[in-house]
Amino acid sequence: MTLFDDNTFKDDINKKDMKNILKEENLIKLINVKNDDLLKLMNLANSSRENNEITYSKNVFIPLTEICRNTCGYCVFKKEDTDKNAIILKEKNEIINELKISEKYGCKEAMLAFGEQADENTIVKNKLNTLGYSNIIDYTYDVCEEIINKTNLLPHTNCGILSYEEMKKLKEVNVSMGMMLENSSPRLMETIAHKDSPGKDPTIRLEVIKNAGKLKIPYTTGILIGIGETKEEIIKSLLDIKKINDKYGHIQEIIIQNFKPKDGIAMENYKEPSLIDMIRTVAVSKLIFPNVSIQVPPNLNLHTNQIFLFSGCDDWGGVSPVSHDYVNPEAEWPKIEELKILTNDAGFKLNERLAIYDKYINNEFLDEKIKNKALSLKKELN
Ligand code: SF4
Repeated sequence: MTLFDDNTFKDDINKKDMKNILKEENLIKLINVKNDDLLKLMNLANSSRENNEITYSKNVFIPLTEICRNTCGYCVFKKEDTDKNAIILKEKNEIINELKISEKYGCKEAMLAFGEQADENTIVKNKLNTLGYSNIIDYTYDVCEEIINKTNLLPHTNCGILSYEEMKKLKEVNVSMGMMLENSSPRLMETIAHKDSPGKDPTIRLEVIKNAGKLKIPYTTGILIGIGETKEEIIKSLLDIKKINDKYGHIQEIIIQNFKPKDGIAMENYKEPSLIDMIRTVAVSKLIFPNVSIQVPPNLNLHTNQIFLFSGCDDWGGVSPVSHDYVNPEAEWPKIEELKILTNDAGFKLNERLAIYDKYINNEFLDEKIKNKALSLKKELN
C-alpha cells in the first residue's frame, strides 16, 4: 500500500515513503487534507521535528526608516515621507540609546528591519548626506558596527532585496540576515498584493536568497499565507526555497506568516487564512524542512498558538519585551512568561536562542569578531 492508496496514511512511514511524500504532486494533496488525514499529517510533521524544544529570540525591532519604494497591498509598515510621524532615518545615537534600554531586558538581537531601497527617496537621501553617507547600505553597516562594539546585542538586518555586493558588505557586521520570499508565484505581481511592488518580483527574491547562500549568510526567509495565492503556489514556493537550501544549507528558519487584514490597507477586505490552512501549511513545511526551524509568529495567533506545536512548528521567532511589531502593530507580543506557560502546557520546552542558530556559529558562516561575540552571548544563554 502506498501513502495515498485509499487516501489514508500508512502507520509506518519509511524513507522511501518520505521520498514519495515529498514529490510536488503529493505535497499538493497533503496541503489539502481533511478529517482524520489532517490529524495524521500533523502527527507525521511532528514526528519529523529534531527535538522537543521550541525556541525564540529576545529581540528589539529597530525600523531604520519607514520609507519604502514598494507599496504592498497588505502593508502598514511603510509610511509616506509627507507623514510627519514617519521615521525618515533613525540616527545612530538614538538607536544605541534604545538598545541600551533593551539590554536591561535581556534582549540579544537587534533586528534592523526597514523599507526597501529607501535611499531612492530624496528626503531619505538628503538626510543620509547630512550625516555624511551617500547610501543606506553604508549607513546600515556603520550602525551594525556600533551595535557590535557598543552593545550586548547581535545585529540581524532585513531590508528587502539587496545586491550580492551589498550583502557581502553587510555580512561582515550581521550574524544573520533575512527577507521573506512571500511567494514565488509571478502571478501575484499582477494582483493587489504586489502590483505596486517591483521588489516583490519572485525571480529577484529567489536570486537574493541564493546569493545569501553563496555568501554563507545564515538566513531567514518565509512565506506569507492569505495574499491571494493558491495551495499549489505555496508548495512551489516552499520547494523553491528547498532547492536553494539543498545546495547552500544556509536557511536557518522558515517563517509561516498569516496575513492579517487591517483598516486602511488595500487588502482590508481580504480574509485571513483559516486556522486549518495555517496548520496544513506549517505541517507540510516541516515535512519539507525537517532540519530547518519552522517559525510561526506568536503575536499573530495569540489564541491558537499551541496547535502549531503539534503541527511541526519549532520556533516562535523574535519576541520583544520592549518594542512593538511594526509590521503588525495591532498584534502585541505575548510576554515571555506566557509563551513559556503555553509551550510547557503543550508538553514542549521553551529555550531562548540567538539571532543565529548554534549550527552556524563557526568560521564558515561568521567573521572572527562577530563569531566571538556570538559565542560569548551564547554562554550567557546556557
Ligand atoms: S511590505 Fe515591505 S516591501 Fe512591501 S511596502 Fe511594506 S515595507 Fe515595503
